Amino acid sequence: MSDTIFGKIIRREIPADIVYEDDLALAFKDINPQAPTHILVIPKKPLPRVSEAASEDKALLGHLLWTVKLVAEKVGLSNGYRVVINNGADGGQTVDHLHLHVLGDRQMRWPPG
Ligand code: 5GP
Repeated sequence: MSDTIFGKIIRREIPADIVYEDDLALAFKDINPQAPTHILVIPKKPLPRVSEAASEDKALLGHLLWTVKLVAEKVGLSNGYRVVINNGADGGQTVDHLHLHVLGDRQMRWPPG
Protein backbone atom coordinates (compact mmCIF):
# COMPACT_ATOMS: atom_id res chain seq x y z
CA MET A 1 0.00 0.00 0.00
CA SER A 2 1.07 3.61 -0.43
CA ASP A 3 2.24 5.66 2.55
CA THR A 4 -0.14 7.90 4.49
CA ILE A 5 0.11 10.72 6.99
CA PHE A 6 -0.27 8.11 9.75
CA GLY A 7 2.78 6.25 8.44
CA LYS A 8 4.73 9.48 8.85
CA ILE A 9 3.44 9.80 12.44
CA ILE A 10 4.50 6.20 13.23
CA ARG A 11 8.01 6.95 11.90
CA ARG A 12 8.09 10.29 13.80
CA GLU A 13 8.53 12.19 10.52
CA ILE A 14 5.72 14.54 11.55
CA PRO A 15 4.69 15.40 15.10
CA ALA A 16 1.66 14.06 16.93
CA ASP A 17 0.44 14.21 20.51
CA ILE A 18 1.01 10.55 21.35
CA VAL A 19 -0.88 9.18 24.36
CA TYR A 20 -0.02 5.46 24.15
CA GLU A 21 2.35 3.17 22.26
CA ASP A 22 3.24 -0.50 22.26
CA ASP A 23 4.87 -2.84 19.76
CA LEU A 24 1.71 -3.16 17.63
CA ALA A 25 -0.28 0.03 18.12
CA LEU A 26 -0.03 3.78 18.50
CA ALA A 27 -2.60 6.22 19.90
CA PHE A 28 -2.51 9.99 19.42
CA LYS A 29 -4.84 12.99 19.59
CA ASP A 30 -6.84 13.81 16.47
CA ILE A 31 -5.71 17.08 14.86
CA ASN A 32 -9.34 18.13 14.27
CA PRO A 33 -11.17 16.89 17.37
CA GLN A 34 -14.90 16.19 17.16
CA ALA A 35 -15.27 15.92 20.94
CA PRO A 36 -13.35 17.32 23.93
CA THR A 37 -11.38 14.07 23.88
CA HIS A 38 -10.71 12.58 20.42
CA ILE A 39 -7.95 10.00 20.09
CA LEU A 40 -7.00 7.81 17.14
CA VAL A 41 -5.78 4.25 17.74
CA ILE A 42 -3.88 2.79 14.79
CA PRO A 43 -1.91 -0.36 14.02
CA LYS A 44 1.77 0.13 13.25
CA LYS A 45 1.23 -2.32 10.42
CA PRO A 46 -0.02 -0.33 7.39
CA LEU A 47 -3.41 -2.01 7.05
CA PRO A 48 -5.63 0.34 5.02
CA ARG A 49 -9.06 -0.57 6.43
CA VAL A 50 -11.05 -3.31 8.13
CA SER A 51 -12.39 -4.58 4.82
CA GLU A 52 -8.83 -5.33 3.67
CA ALA A 53 -7.89 -7.25 6.80
CA ALA A 54 -6.85 -10.87 6.33
CA SER A 55 -7.39 -13.84 8.57
CA GLU A 56 -3.84 -13.34 9.88
CA ASP A 57 -4.90 -9.89 11.16
CA LYS A 58 -7.54 -11.21 13.58
CA ALA A 59 -5.28 -10.94 16.64
CA LEU A 60 -4.20 -7.44 15.62
CA LEU A 61 -7.81 -6.31 15.28
CA GLY A 62 -8.50 -7.59 18.78
CA HIS A 63 -5.38 -5.87 20.07
CA LEU A 64 -6.59 -2.54 18.69
CA LEU A 65 -9.87 -2.79 20.59
CA TRP A 66 -7.97 -3.74 23.73
CA THR A 67 -5.79 -0.68 23.15
CA VAL A 68 -8.93 1.47 22.99
CA LYS A 69 -9.85 0.20 26.46
CA LEU A 70 -6.38 0.96 27.86
CA VAL A 71 -6.28 4.42 26.28
CA ALA A 72 -9.78 5.31 27.51
CA GLU A 73 -8.76 4.35 31.05
CA LYS A 74 -5.49 6.26 30.73
CA VAL A 75 -7.18 9.52 29.72
CA GLY A 76 -9.99 9.11 32.25
CA LEU A 77 -13.06 8.44 30.09
CA SER A 78 -14.83 6.89 33.08
CA ASN A 79 -18.31 8.07 32.02
CA GLY A 80 -18.24 6.27 28.67
CA TYR A 81 -17.05 6.96 25.16
CA ARG A 82 -17.74 6.13 21.52
CA VAL A 83 -15.51 4.05 19.23
CA VAL A 84 -15.86 4.68 15.49
CA ILE A 85 -14.25 3.05 12.46
CA ASN A 86 -14.91 4.73 9.11
CA ASN A 87 -14.37 2.12 6.38
CA GLY A 88 -14.02 3.13 2.74
CA ALA A 89 -15.80 5.78 0.70
CA ASP A 90 -19.35 5.38 2.03
CA GLY A 91 -17.96 5.08 5.54
CA GLY A 92 -16.35 8.50 5.21
CA GLN A 93 -12.77 7.27 5.55
CA THR A 94 -10.26 9.96 4.55
CA VAL A 95 -6.94 8.41 5.65
CA ASP A 96 -6.17 4.99 4.17
CA HIS A 97 -4.56 3.56 7.30
CA LEU A 98 -6.92 1.76 9.68
CA HIS A 99 -7.82 3.90 12.70
CA LEU A 100 -10.27 3.66 15.57
CA HIS A 101 -11.69 6.99 16.71
CA VAL A 102 -12.17 7.23 20.48
CA LEU A 103 -14.51 10.11 21.30
CA GLY A 104 -15.45 11.22 24.77
CA ASP A 105 -16.09 13.88 27.39
CA ARG A 106 -19.40 14.85 25.83
CA GLN A 107 -22.78 13.15 25.36
CA MET A 108 -22.91 11.27 22.02
CA ARG A 109 -26.07 11.11 19.94
CA TRP A 110 -27.58 8.45 17.72
CA PRO A 111 -27.88 7.91 14.80
CA PRO A 112 -24.50 9.19 13.59
CA GLY A 113 -24.37 11.37 10.48
P1 5GP B 1 -11.32 9.35 8.88
O1 5GP B 1 -12.13 10.45 8.29
O2 5GP B 1 -10.40 8.73 7.84
O3 5GP B 1 -12.11 8.33 9.62
O4 5GP B 1 -10.42 10.02 10.00
C1 5GP B 1 -9.18 10.58 9.75
C2 5GP B 1 -8.87 11.43 10.95
O5 5GP B 1 -7.50 11.75 10.92
C3 5GP B 1 -9.65 12.75 11.00
O6 5GP B 1 -10.40 12.81 12.19
C4 5GP B 1 -8.55 13.80 10.94
O7 5GP B 1 -8.83 14.92 11.72
C5 5GP B 1 -7.33 13.04 11.42
N1 5GP B 1 -6.07 13.51 10.89
C6 5GP B 1 -5.79 13.76 9.58
N2 5GP B 1 -4.52 14.18 9.45
C7 5GP B 1 -3.99 14.19 10.69
C8 5GP B 1 -2.70 14.52 11.19
O8 5GP B 1 -1.77 14.90 10.48
N3 5GP B 1 -2.51 14.41 12.54
C9 5GP B 1 -3.50 14.00 13.38
N4 5GP B 1 -3.21 13.93 14.68
N5 5GP B 1 -4.73 13.67 12.94
C10 5GP B 1 -4.96 13.77 11.61
